[in-house]
Amino acid sequence: MSDVYPKLRLLIDGEWIDAGDRRTHAVIDPATGQTLGELPLASADDLDRALAASDQAFRRWRKTPAPERAAVLTGAARHIRARAEVIARNATREEGKLYAETFAETQMAAALFDFYAGECLRTYGRVLVRPAGQLSRVMYEPVGPVAGFAPWNFPIYNPARKLGPAVGAGCSIILKPAEESPASALAIAEALIDAGLPPGVLQIVFGVPDEVSTRLLASPIIRKLSFTGSTAVGKHLLRLAADTVKRTTMELGGHAPVIIFDDADLDRAVEMLVAAKLRNAGQVCVSPTRFFVQDGVHDRFVAALGERMARFTLGSGLDPTVGMGPTTNPRRPAAVETLVADARAAGARLVTGGERIDGDGFFFQPTLLADVPLGARIMTEEPFGPVALTRRFATLDEVVEQANALPYGLAAYAFTENARRANLIAAALEVGMVGINTAAMAAADAPFGGVKESGNGSEDGIEGFQAFLVTKAIHQL
Ligand code: NAD
Repeated sequence: MSDVYPKLRLLIDGEWIDAGDRRTHAVIDPATGQTLGELPLASADDLDRALAASDQAFRRWRKTPAPERAAVLTGAARHIRARAEVIARNATREEGKLYAETFAETQMAAALFDFYAGECLRTYGRVLVRPAGQLSRVMYEPVGPVAGFAPWNFPIYNPARKLGPAVGAGCSIILKPAEESPASALAIAEALIDAGLPPGVLQIVFGVPDEVSTRLLASPIIRKLSFTGSTAVGKHLLRLAADTVKRTTMELGGHAPVIIFDDADLDRAVEMLVAAKLRNAGQVCVSPTRFFVQDGVHDRFVAALGERMARFTLGSGLDPTVGMGPTTNPRRPAAVETLVADARAAGARLVTGGERIDGDGFFFQPTLLADVPLGARIMTEEPFGPVALTRRFATLDEVVEQANALPYGLAAYAFTENARRANLIAAALEVGMVGINTAAMAAADAPFGGVKESGNGSEDGIEGFQAFLVTKAIHQL
């Protein structure tokens, strides 16, 4: 694998497919606006071939002994580690985030594959207690061919989260990665193929997203939908999946509250939260966004956060001196600009940033808005950009109500040195993940997912593997 942006292809039934006379889509470097490559888009025939290949390969792969499936995952993890620098550089070129972040993603993907290799070997059933001579047992079986849709914001880890457990559980999968970040997904697919994954178990297709999802989800061959992306698109796909009653794992939007109590270790909180907020230019579903700060420390916290955010340098994610890269597509700076203008018109105070940066790249300044009115659009619409919002609060009850007020329920954070407060707030927050005195959430062994309109099911952890299994109860007299 060389260090040039790779040729982009589809993968169907073990065959790497060039554009030929297919439609193509230009992949853009968001730091410069330059075209990196042309991506072939799957035709309807390609998608039908992918469905047929997945159907056939599933019948064989499901019967492959677990140690062989595990060996493919550990082999792929080894390839990812060996190729990590090249994979990470290409991911930064197409997605924009810092090289340190894409490199970390390669290590997370490899760790996840290793973890799921272990899970393959531990997919036990259970025996139910019955009178002698009778037997009831519960078996776990792979759910069937999967349709996976992965977004661009974790160009390496999002595909790995869908491919690892599907392959490990004995499913076949058609993955449509984001058209913005195809090389990263193809590199993960290549690692699996080079580790011995048989033809047809994995297909990679790109296309016009709605055409691909409509065709794949209409097919009874597909038994599971695994989607990561916005809540609006997630609802649309759930409707498409309903006709054939597919299983679903939906990882949707968030609008994470952060609660800073007046006994928090402010310096540590600011340090962690500024890094978490500006990671991937804020394009993270668990990004800390609504900061509720208790009266006693409000002014000090807002000043410190603003001062730290203003110090970040912007530029190419490949430049090691840069603190934050561009947003991935030109839609984000425009959308964030509109939301910031609306908040300021509603009475929010601009502490730092607030502007998109002229030029060929898609940059928006790290931005802090204070005293944001609850009625401002940005308090309910996910900014998905480098913007933090603050409000002051007095009591625990009041802040719990505000934190839980949105239809989202993905991640929430609280900072306090008081263990009783930490327990109370963790129990009261209506979310799938809580960080107490930390902003780190994703790990191979921990379930990652939301409640309410942030989705259903989990990725990662044992739960992320079980999501690709169905149960069968066998009763024998
Ligand atoms: P978008 O809603 O257009 O797309 C989000 C993702 O869904 C993309 O990967 C896209 O390719 C895919 N998609 C869109 N329509 C689809 C369809 N009909 N069928 C299948 N896939 C489809 O938004 P965007 O402008 O690319 O990204 C911004 C928004 O996306 C944000 O506001 C955020 O809510 C959401 N998002 C969420 C996550 C997450 O981790 N939950 C990741 C990326 C984007």
